[in-house]
Amino acid sequence: MTEPTATAAIERFPQTAERRRLLALRSLGLLDTAPSASFDRITRLASQIFDLPIAAVSLTDENRQWFKSRIGLEQTEVPRDKAPCAEVIEKKDVLVLRDLLQHDKYADSLLAQHGIRFYAGAPLITRDGYGLGTMCVLGTEPREVTDDECVALRDLAALVMAQIELEHAFGRVDPVTGLPSRNQFIEDVQDFARDEEGETRYATLIDFAHPSELAQTMRVLGPAFIDSFMDNVTREIGEAFGEDQRLYMAGNGQCIYLVDQIDEKLRATEIEKLRRCIQKTLSSTNPPVLFTSSIGVVPFQLGESDPQDVIRMAHSAAEEARHCDRKLSFYSPQLDEAERRRYRLLADIREAIRTEDQLYLAYQPRIDVASHKYIGAEALIRWTHPELGNIAPGEFIPLLEQTSLTRELTAWVIDTAVRQMAAWKKQGMELNVSVNISAENLGEGDFAARLIQTLQQHEIDPETLELELTEGAILKKGEQALRQLNVIDQAGVVVAIDDFGTGYSNLAYLLDIPAGVVKLDRSLVQALGKEDRSRTLVRTLFTTLHNLGYRVVAEGVETIELFEALQKERCDEAQGFLFSPALAPKLFEEWVRVNSKHREADEEALPHPLPKSA
Ligand code: C2E
Ligand code: CA
Ligand code: CA
Repeated sequence: MTEPTATAAIERFPQTAERRRLLALRSLGLLDTAPSASFDRITRLASQIFDLPIAAVSLTDENRQWFKSRIGLEQTEVPRDKAPCAEVIEKKDVLVLRDLLQHDKYADSLLAQHGIRFYAGAPLITRDGYGLGTMCVLGTEPREVTDDECVALRDLAALVMAQIELEHAFGRVDPVTGLPSRNQFIEDVQDFARDEEGETRYATLIDFAHPSELAQTMRVLGPAFIDSFMDNVTREIGEAFGEDQRLYMAGNGQCIYLVDQIDEKLRATEIEKLRRCIQKTLSSTNPPVLFTSSIGVVPFQLGESDPQDVIRMAHSAAEEARHCDRKLSFYSPQLDEAERRRYRLLADIREAIRTEDQLYLAYQPRIDVASHKYIGAEALIRWTHPELGNIAPGEFIPLLEQTSLTRELTAWVIDTAVRQMAAWKKQGMELNVSVNISAENLGEGDFAARLIQTLQQHEIDPETLELELTEGAILKKGEQALRQLNVIDQAGVVVAIDDFGTGYSNLAYLLDIPAGVVKLDRSLVQALGKEDRSRTLVRTLFTTLHNLGYRVVAEGVETIELFEALQKERCDEAQGFLFSPALAPKLFEEWVRVNSKHREADEEALPHPLPKSA
């Protein structure tokens, strides 16, 4: 970043052509790079055409002529002062010096001191008209130049420019749309920052379709369809925004649009214009497709925000926009913080699974409603992050479920729970344990087989293990899920439908699932305590589920009143803070010890939580 004084200086003095020329040169990233065969070929050709021992591609830096390619020259650079190449780019025309010694300016130049007498150079000029350097030939004898040779030198210079453009365009232009690439965006932002540091710009990321829509289209219509859509939509935008558009490709199905500071109203019109372009393109595709675009806008200060970070923030805003009605979102730091946390957790969970010492299973007692006896426990994962502290599974499990780590995590959960059951069995404490599994696990072809193997390995009766999964998970994996669940069921492992009443609970579909247990979600259970129609609904549900032969478990039982209401409905099992939250294994053992004692004293005693100090 430039010092504030430098900014002031730039503001006081208008940029000179030379400064811009230097920027153009440096942005090519050619200076001080290694020799390259493609340039050397042209230099060799020049030397052959002129039948001269020395030829070079020379670039004019601030104080030096640097040779990208050279033949017959030892130096890699010479001072710019008194170098004929410098004059070529000033004049932007071919310069021929038949004899250096005859020119006052060059008679005592470094080249002349090294015995050079002849010089001819043609300028290397960019499309924007900046002179970068020369294609030049030199000789140790005075020499004449024919018109044909002059033309050849110009042609060679054009060849060098074509090569420079080719190398520069590589990775900077999107081959499908011809738009500048994300790399170019980064460079342009850096360039603008040099000229206009501190000024506000807006980066608008347009995500033309949801990733799943893109994937689906790719599957059905192939990549050419998407390419043609991108080509058409970017052309549409190009036409609508005209000359001063700065549109770049940002990723798969995404563009980023860079604009100067504009007022609120203009920005709204601009976004409307973008939307119309998208609509117009969509309405003309054949076959018609349904793409939902979302737009994220990030204001940023030139020179203060790293361009890579600008892209990341714009992504974050566009992602957020998916959840808004208008499908438009402005970047906000709070949002970004949540996003960073999500990234961090995702990055760190892998480590946590591998090292194991940050994870443990906590066990929440499950109570038989009729007898008040505890009969089992649900294993719930706990993560103590070394820096962020306790992370709730409700926060990290949904994140993890978007990754391939689900397989590893569930494998760890099952293994840990089964080992714990074996350890408790040894201590004479036999109880049923349920574990939670994710949709993705049902897509693992060997899931059931591995589960059964783990049980055998630790000599655990399959009937004492229960798998909790949601209807949504089973629906998501369809046939695959049913296949795994049937094997699991055949082996004797109990399948429980978790969170019943939160999704699209469909009783007809439920019948296809080999489940023995239905766990009613806390929200449904609480309706039992209300004096309205929702209570009637839950009561009917109890009857129906019982008639269909399910064991019904109520989750989230916090009050004795609710427990009594559940008793009336002949609910089979209850779980909740009324009896205990989930406890680490040692505390769970303590809970069992304390409550067994109570039971010895009073057979009807209802289990209760350990005192807070425990
Ligand atoms: P879930 O399976 O529905 O688990 C019940 C959640 O309710 C647990 O939250 C539990 O601590 C909490 N809870 C229990 N009794 C009460 C109560 O009386 N009142 C209230 N308000 N809450 C109660 P937790 O442990 O934070 O787990 C949240 C969710 O994370 C679980 O919901 C489950 O979907 C998921 N999860 C937890 N452990 C695992 C795991 O090992 N694997 C997978 N795949 N998911 C897990
Ligand atoms: Ca559960
Ligand atoms: Ca649940």
